Amino acid sequence: MFKSIQIIHKNDPVSNSIAEKIKKRINYVEPTEPKEPDVVISIGGDGTILRSVHEHIDRIDDIIIFGVMTGHLGFFMDFTDSMIDEMLESILKNTYNIHTFSIAEAILETKNETKKFYALNEFQLVKSFKVVAFDLFIDSRKFETFRGNGLCFSTPAGSTGMNKSLGGAIVDPRLESIQVTELASINSNAYRTIGTSMLFSRGRKISIEPQGTPLELDFCYDHLMERVNDVQKLSVKLSSKKLRIAYIKDNPFFERVRKAFL
Ligand code: NAP
Ligand code: MN
Repeated sequence: MFKSIQIIHKNDPVSNSIAEKIKKRINYVEPTEPKEPDVVISIGGDGTILRSVHEHIDRIDDIIIFGVMTGHLGFFMDFTDSMIDEMLESILKNTYNIHTFSIAEAILETKNETKKFYALNEFQLVKSFKVVAFDLFIDSRKFETFRGNGLCFSTPAGSTGMNKSLGGAIVDPRLESIQVTELASINSNAYRTIGTSMLFSRGRKISIEPQGTPLELDFCYDHLMERVNDVQKLSVKLSSKKLRIAYIKDNPFFERVRKAFL
């Protein structure tokens, strides 16, 4: 008997046809609401993994994701169309291995409410066409006042995403950390920031507090975004939640990095 499986796929011809093929093989029945699968087969790209993670964030520790790549990059995906039989057999026989990825959590405090968010890749608090000023605190001590377009807080898994485009370092997923990266910081005689990205170990409390005239900001968490007013504080740390992604053939992290970027 198969475990309870949910298929989440990108809506393009290739992903749709792989989904159909798998559904036939396993006599797939869509899980009934509330969907509580043990296994999620995500067909598409990293964006599909992000969607799968956020759909099941409350019980992410109880799920194993099998990623079938149909996109260009698929940093989180370990299977291809030609490996479907092997993949289904490994699910049936429990013969897969697991990559574990840290998930970050953020508490966003505005004048009216306090909300918790999770991210596999990163959080960003940004404003694209105005300068924002944030006081940055490390373990509740003020470190600097940042002025620019915003800050990005990335997990090791997210270090190859937006973080990398911002000039942040690629981080070994074994190094449990949060990396803070600047978006277009202003550095002049009037304003000064550290200017490089900074890497913080698990357990550090990193927070920012907007200064000056309150602006409407974009709070981004992975592929999702909320427009927020009157932000008072954003605190970020690594969560106790973890994402588990299955693989069968050894596919080391830095080999993926090389294949993706070199
Ligand atoms: P998207 O706008 O469709 O594409 C963003 C690209 O980033 C896609 O090629 C995606 O791969 C890739 N990607 C996602 N997570 C990655 C990771 N951890 N390592 C390396 N590449 C990764 O957005 P999306 O697919 O919904 O993904 C949202 C993520 O995209 C965000 O969390 C952020 O990290 C990233 N992003 C990057 C930039 C940038 O670098 N300038 C801008 C916006 C968003 P797939 O093609 O396999 O989906
Ligand atoms: Mn995408």
